[in-house]
Amino acid sequence: MNSLLFGTPGIPLSTVPANTLNGVKRVKVLGLDAMELEFVHNVNVNEELALEIKKSAEVVLTCHGQYYVNLASNEPAKYHASINRMVSAAKRLSECGGWSAVWHFGFYLDRPKEKVFELIKKGVKEVVNQLAQENISVWIRPETTGKMTQWGDLQETIKLAQEVEQVLPCIDFSHLHARSGKINSFDEFKDVLAQLEKGLGRTVLDNLHAHCSGINYGAKGELNHLNLEDSDMNYRDLLKALKEFKVKGVLISESPNVEGDALLFKREFSQI
Ligand SMILES: [Zn+2]
Repeated sequence: MNSLLFGTPGIPLSTVPANTLNGVKRVKVLGLDAMELEFVHNVNVNEELALEIKKSAEVVLTCHGQYYVNLASNEPAKYHASINRMVSAAKRLSECGGWSAVWHFGFYLDRPKEKVFELIKKGVKEVVNQLAQENISVWIRPETTGKMTQWGDLQETIKLAQEVEQVLPCIDFSHLHARSGKINSFDEFKDVLAQLEKGLGRTVLDNLHAHCSGINYGAKGELNHLNLEDSDMNYRDLLKALKEFKVKGVLISESPNVEGDALLFKREFSQI
C-alpha cells in the first residue's frame, strides 16, 4: 500500500439499490478508498459476481470472514469446517481482486493459552497451505478480539504472524481497548504500533489492516459497537499515532453508521 486508506464495513447505507456491486461503486463516489466484504454469516458473493466486482471495483477490497470459525475446536468436524470456511472466503475475496481477509480465529474454552495457540497455528497452516496450492496470496489475518473468551490478544496475533507465512494481524483498536479498558491514549496507541514493528518489521506497518469504531464494553470486554461520537474511543489520537508511524494499509470503520465514521476518519486524518 502507498498510503493509509479508509473504508466501510460492508455496503454504505446510502447505496441504492443496496447490493454489493453498487456498494463498491458507492464507496468510490463517497470519496472513500476501501470496502470490507461482510462474509460474516456466509460467503455472499458468487463466482460470477466476484468477476464483475473485480472488473468494476476501483477501491481496495478486504473481507471479514465467517463468525462460525474456531480453529481451536475440540471437535474434528468443527475444526475441518472452519478450515474449509476460511479457504472458501479467502478464495472468493481473491476472485474479487481483494487484498486481506480477517476472522476471529477461535475460543480458549478454559484451556491454557499455549495449548490453544498451538491448535490455532496448526489450523491456519493448513489454510495457508491449501491456498498456496491454488496460488491465492491474500493476507490471512487473525483479528485482535474484544472478548476475554476469544483467542487473539495483541501478543498472540504477533506471535502467530511470526510463525506462519502469509499471516499478519488485523488490529482492531476498539477491541484492544475493550479487552483492557486501556489502550486509548496517544502513547498507548504508539506502543501498540511499536510492538508490531518490533515483532514483524515494517511489513506490518506498510500493510496494516485495522478496525476501529466506538465501543461499549464491560469487565469481560466488548459488548457492542457504537458510533464514534457516542463512545469514549479516542480516535483522534489513534489517527495521530498512525500518521506519526507513517502507517500504510486499510482502516475500516466498524461503526453502525457505516460510511459516516469512515468519512470522519478520512477527514480528520487529512487535517493532522
Ligand atoms: Zn471482527
